Amino acid sequence: MQPGAPVLEEQIDQFAAARNLQTPTWVFDIDAGRIVHANGSACALWQADTERELQQRDMSKDMSPTVAKRLKQYQADFAARDATFTELWTLYPNGKPTSVMVQFCGFRLLDGRMAMQCEVFAEADDQPDNLRSAEALLHTDVMITLYSFSGPPLYMNPAARNASHDANAPIAQLFVDSRDFDVLMFELEGAGEHRRVARVKTSLGQRWFDISAKQCSDAISGEPAILVTAIDVSELKDARDQARYLANRDQLTGCFNRSYLQHYAAHIADTEITPRALLYFDVDRFKQINDTFGHEMGDAVLIELAARAQVYAASQDVVVRLGGDEFVIVMEVSEDKAEFLTRVETVFRALSSPILCGATNINAKVSMGISVFEPSEFDVDAVLRQADIALYMSKKRGRNRFTFYDDAMGEAAERRSRTEAEIEQALQRREFTLHYQPRIDVKSGEIASVEGLARWMHPERGMILPGEFIPICEETGMIEALGQQVLEMGFAQSKAWLDAGVNTRLSLNISPRQFADSGLLDRLKACAGTAGFTPGQIELEITESVLIGEHDGIAAKLQTITDMGFEIAIDDFGTGYSNLSYISRFPLHTLKIDRSFIAQLPHSGPIVQLIVALAEQIGAKTVAEGVETEEQYEWLANCGCDQIQGFYVAKPAPAPDIEAELTRT
Ligand code: C2E
Ligand code: MG
Ligand code: MG
Repeated sequence: MQPGAPVLEEQIDQFAAARNLQTPTWVFDIDAGRIVHANGSACALWQADTERELQQRDMSKDMSPTVAKRLKQYQADFAARDATFTELWTLYPNGKPTSVMVQFCGFRLLDGRMAMQCEVFAEADDQPDNLRSAEALLHTDVMITLYSFSGPPLYMNPAARNASHDANAPIAQLFVDSRDFDVLMFELEGAGEHRRVARVKTSLGQRWFDISAKQCSDAISGEPAILVTAIDVSELKDARDQARYLANRDQLTGCFNRSYLQHYAAHIADTEITPRALLYFDVDRFKQINDTFGHEMGDAVLIELAARAQVYAASQDVVVRLGGDEFVIVMEVSEDKAEFLTRVETVFRALSSPILCGATNINAKVSMGISVFEPSEFDVDAVLRQADIALYMSKKRGRNRFTFYDDAMGEAAERRSRTEAEIEQALQRREFTLHYQPRIDVKSGEIASVEGLARWMHPERGMILPGEFIPICEETGMIEALGQQVLEMGFAQSKAWLDAGVNTRLSLNISPRQFADSGLLDRLKACAGTAGFTPGQIELEITESVLIGEHDGIAAKLQTITDMGFEIAIDDFGTGYSNLSYISRFPLHTLKIDRSFIAQLPHSGPIVQLIVALAEQIGAKTVAEGVETEEQYEWLANCGCDQIQGFYVAKPAPAPDIEAELTRT
């Protein structure tokens, strides 16, 4: 035996002192799950006749895993720091529950293992509710701690003790971030209670706890104390954080999404005062990029643009993909306006430089609209609308540029959108009609044909000319509906004139968008099949811009139209940039010399002569548009121009007025 090591007799003697205690006292071997020593009172409490009989009971048999785990924790606590605990326990001697207050501490056995000495110092209050609540406190997973204001905890339930990184640490040391503690104390002082999710130090490292704290008094000393209940929400928080991350991110590019922009706006509205600029941009002709290079390349372009925006935006700026090819950067507007403008230019240039996708160099350019605003007035929809108006201006001014929003722009946009709504309504109410302008045959002096020109008979404003509504219709797509109504009205008028024995040809204008519409051929076919209607009487006017593009498709479409019997005229000829070498490949019947050349006669004479010669070459007739004077008429007649249209001959007029002219000749 080693000198100084406790001998069996000494140990037993040591317990012998406890044997004489009035209070039930016993030693529990945690590893073996058995009582190894017990005084007489303990035997009585456990309803055992002898100490030996008690020693033979296997206590681990009916023990719940939670209790077993807790005992192991106590064992570690005893070994680490001479801990003493007091708890209300419910014992089950021979199956009958008995509640007692037990104080327990470590007890080193002869073989060196740590056991537990338990001493009952009070019969518990035997009110059933009290017993049950005390039991619940012991077994719950909710961590409950009663803290003094600055010293060590006054009480910890087993769950709290289990999780604690240091059972003696005051409340301030619970938190990883001291600001959480500061807020908690501040709130406790004010409201007396506080709840927050915070990162805390635990026996398992840092975890997220949902903490409820209440100010109270210690039941023993009456001193002010803080009752803290806590639940470990780490898993929940991780999942929630991830869900929040995903909810705020655009899947394709990884930058923020539209819903984040709303959060961000609310955030800076409350916390920031420096003005911000919202840069709203999209890719010019993105559809064309997708169509030409495929959607994968299109996606690669978007990813690259998002990456560039992130690189060139400052750390406090926010990059958002709204959807499709539309992005937003919200940036701080520095006091130095020149510096701010330089930053905008830098970002814009970076976004507009060519993008290398694999081996392909894609020349994607962007257009941008910018709205500057105070953070306190960050209404996302309103600011986006302003930036969108400015973006629209950038497109209108020729694309690949940035434009700052101003109020005049807003008013114009508002007027425009009002007009748009009115046009839509006018289409439904069929407020559009046709006026007709004759074309005179130079040789015979007779009306060779009339051109149908759209007019909007506005119930309040009176007659509105096409310059005000055609461009809007073209841009919004309403031109298809308008074009359809024009065709219907024109064809019906042509048929009516034929039926009445008035023999005239009719020209109708087809807009580029209407020509590109895949339904146009079907519509023409349906009209061409109507009884009593002769397509040969109808000429369709298209502009040169229609001829620019994929030639084979356009030529085939024109061929189908002429095969149905319709004739084709090129309107405003000479203003576009049609490739002259291709002109001969299209089935064309008429070239209408643009008004601007007629207005500049005789100065523009060589050009007019050139067009007349070209028309002769391809077997088409020429029509001079916008002839206003006798001099012009004479000049054109001498030049060999076939037909004349213009105010000099007649202004556009409603069908009955034209009918009078037609029947007179
Ligand atoms: P356009 O097809 O070149 O039609 C000729 C335009 O010149 C008409 O203007 C006509 O009123 C005007 N005009 C005719 N003679 C003279 C003249 O001696 N002097 C001057 N200064 N102007 C003259 P309007 O009716 O205002 O139409 C303008 C344009 O709107 C048309 O040019 C055409 O491009 C388009 N448009 C008109 N109706 C339709 C339609 O039904 N569909 C489509 N897609 N476009 C149409
Ligand atoms: Mg025309
Ligand atoms: Mg014209």
